[in-house]
Amino acid sequence: MAFKHIIDTVRCKGCGLCITVCPKEVLEISDKISTKGYFPAYQAHPENCIFCTACCIMCPDVAISIEKNDDEPDKT
Ligand code: SF4
Ligand code: SF4
Repeated sequence: MAFKHIIDTVRCKGCGLCITVCPKEVLEISDKISTKGYFPAYQAHPENCIFCTACCIMCPDVAISIEKNDDEPDKT
C-alpha cells in the first residue's frame, strides 16, 4: 500500500469522532492511557483501511494523518 495512516496519541483526546465516521470500522479506543491521561484511538483493524481520510477530516485535534509511503526504489 502506498499510504500510511498515523494517529498521534499525544494529541488524541479519545473523543471517538473518528470511530463514528470510519466506514470500515478500522478504529477503536485503546485501553492504554496516554501521557495526557486520555484513552486514544488506535487502528484495531489497519488492514481494512481504505485511506478515505474521513477520520483525518473529522478529528478536532488534528491527531490523524495519512502520509504517502516513499518506499519506491531509487531509480538512479
Ligand atoms: S482513512 Fe478512512 S478507512 Fe481509514 S481509518 Fe480513517 S476513516 Fe477509516
Ligand atoms: S477524532 Fe481525533 S481526538 Fe477524537 S478519538 Fe479520533 S484521533 Fe482522537
